Amino acid sequence: MAQIKWKQFAGQERIKDVLGAAYEHNTLGHAYLFCGEAGTGKFAAALELGMALLCKSEHVHPCYECEACRKVLHYTHPDFHVIMPVSLQKEHKSDSSKLTDEGWKYISGAIGARIANPYFPREFSTLPSIPVEWMRELNHAVLRGALEGGKNVAILDGVDTMNKESANSMLKTLIGDDISVVENPPTESYFEVRVMSGDSWSFGNNSVEEASIPEIIIEAEDVIENPQILNEDFEQALGYNGVLNKGDKLVIKDGKFLLNGEDVSERVSPKVLPKIHRRVSSWKYVELIREKIGVFDSTTFDESIFAVNVPKAKISMKWVRYQPATFSVKLNRDSLNRSKVPKEYVEEVLNSIKAAGVKVIVEEVGE
Ligand SMILES: [Zn+2]
Repeated sequence: MAQIKWKQFAGQERIKDVLGAAYEHNTLGHAYLFCGEAGTGKFAAALELGMALLCKSEHVHPCYECEACRKVLHYTHPDFHVIMPVSLQKEHKSDSSKLTDEGWKYISGAIGARIANPYFPREFSTLPSIPVEWMRELNHAVLRGALEGGKNVAILDGVDTMNKESANSMLKTLIGDDISVVENPPTESYFEVRVMSGDSWSFGNNSVEEASIPEIIIEAEDVIENPQILNEDFEQALGYNGVLNKGDKLVIKDGKFLLNGEDVSERVSPKVLPKIHRRVSSWKYVELIREKIGVFDSTTFDESIFAVNVPKAKISMKWVRYQPATFSVKLNRDSLNRSKVPKEYVEEVLNSIKAAGVKVIVEEVGE
């Protein structure tokens, strides 16, 4: 393959060497992520690399003279695509916030200017964004394949300003349709405490929305009688009237009361389901032990005392919370393998969406 001769991309000798060698030996990867401060030449590098890949000259690429090079420079090459943030004005969008003809015209003008002056610092008059229709258009172009028989080149500039829809659309380009992006994905929260009568604990959880009703599980680790859970700050109580034997499990879920799987609603009173609130609250566990202490005789005295000094129940609470500022991305493993895009690459691209400190979780699903 021909060699690359960088004309506009300045400095960055190490990067030039790496990309140049890969180009020459035809070992370029199918995608590259260029990271760095503004003004370091990320766009210039991508532009010249893209031009080189499409250049028809026999020797040094890009030649800046052949038809392909000229088309790239005029942004008329059908296999050269640029996506970048733009600050759209009112007239660029219709009432249903679709791009108008004027909007599309504005976009090609902005790309033309960026190609002509890749080092020119960009200034935005309004919050820049990447419209989703534009991203979709790129999808079509990539899926359709190159029109001029060579390669298809896409530069995604400034992915940090991509919104959720655009990011979703971009991932579909890379991987295919088997992908889903969930904003603020739900996750299960869990709290567990081992208690004996009179024990109290407190917990506050800023990941609770306003108030959540948790699933509560009381597991008896000894014989317990009339156990009760109280939320002291909100004066909510839940009590079971009866005896739980060692190993019994009382589950309170979705308003149902199940003891070892059997409905025991008639034994629960009051039936107020304690909530977990956003603010700190203190909780207390009590069970009936006084009467028992009152009836022990001298021979079992030690045993009885011992019995009230170790936790006799395990209480667990589970609830769903939503992870703020988080994208969860589920990728189908088969599609990922087919597209030869590693999960780490997707994670890296998405992690560059840090405009609002967004966290990304990438999961592979499927067998
Ligand atoms: Zn050329």
